[in-house]
Amino acid sequence: MKRKIFFLTIISFVFIFSISLLIYAKDAQIEGENLNVRSGPGTDYDIITSVNPPEQYPVLEESGEWAKIDLGDHQGWIHQDYFSITEESESQNDDKKMEEENERSSDSVANSTETHKQLDNSIAGKKIVLDPGHGGRDVGAIGASGGFESDYTLKTAQVLREKLEEHGADVYLTRNNNQYVPLTSRTTHTNLLRADVYLSIHYNSTPELPEVQGIDTYYLSERDQQLAEYVHGGIINETDMHDRGIEQRDLHVLRVNHRPSLLLELGFISNETEEKKIQSRAFLEAMSRGVLIGLEQYFR
Ligand SMILES: [Zn+2]
Repeated sequence: MKRKIFFLTIISFVFIFSISLLIYAKDAQIEGENLNVRSGPGTDYDIITSVNPPEQYPVLEESGEWAKIDLGDHQGWIHQDYFSITEESESQNDDKKMEEENERSSDSVANSTETHKQLDNSIAGKKIVLDPGHGGRDVGAIGASGGFESDYTLKTAQVLREKLEEHGADVYLTRNNNQYVPLTSRTTHTNLLRADVYLSIHYNSTPELPEVQGIDTYYLSERDQQLAEYVHGGIINETDMHDRGIEQRDLHVLRVNHRPSLLLELGFISNETEEKKIQSRAFLEAMSRGVLIGLEQYFR
C-alpha cells in the first residue's frame, strides 16, 4: 500500500512538472515599442522596466488580458495587445502549420479584448468625424525634435480610425493627407453629416516649460460634458499619460459645431520624452482603445 502511494506521488510530480514545462513553452513575441512591464496584471501596478520588439520572453502565467513574463533576473506583467504568443512545438510540424497556429492564438488574444466587458459594439453604425488638427501651411506646434503637430495629428487620426472602424463605426476624416483645411470646412462637414461625435485631435506645446506633460480634453456645451468624461477617462486609463483633466473652453471648432464635440490635446510635443512616446505604435493603440471604450460608454 505504501509503495502504491509512493508511485502515485511520483507520477503526479512528473505530471505537474510536464504541465509547467508546457506553460513555459509559450513565448511572448513583443510587438509594442518601449512596452511597459509592470509589477502586476493591471495599469495600476508600477512600471518596473520596458521591453522592445523583436524581443521574446517565456510566459510564466496569464491573468485576464495580462501575461507574466520571465526577464531572466526578474519577472513582470505585460498587456496582451502588445505581444503575440509563439508556441514552441517539440514534434517539429511543418512551418506552415505552426504559422497557422500562431495566427489562431493571436486571433483569440484579439477576440478576448473585443469581448472585454467595457466593449459592446454600441459604436457600430455611429458616424464619427475625426479632425486631425492643422495641416499644409499650418504645421501647428513644433516638437522638441522639430517634428510638426500636423503630422502627428494625422497619424493619430489614421490609427484611431482603424480602431473605430474595426468596431463598426462609420469614420470620416476632415483631411487624410498633409493639406490645409480651413476651420470652418472642418465643422461644416460635421454638421452636414449629422455626425454622432466630432473629435478634434491636437498635441500641446509649451517650449518655455519643456517639463510639462499630459493629456487635456476640452468641451464647450454642457451637453458634451459626459462625452468628455468618458473619452478622457478611457484615454487616461489605457495610456500612462499624466491626467490634466477635462475643461470647458470656448474654442472655435467647438463653438461652430452643432454636433457633440471634443477637442483632445493628446500630449506635449515640447517634452522630448512625450514627443517620442506619442509617435509609438503602443501609445497610438492604447489611446485608440481608450477613445473606443469611452465612446462605447457614451453610446450605451
Ligand atoms: Zn493644435
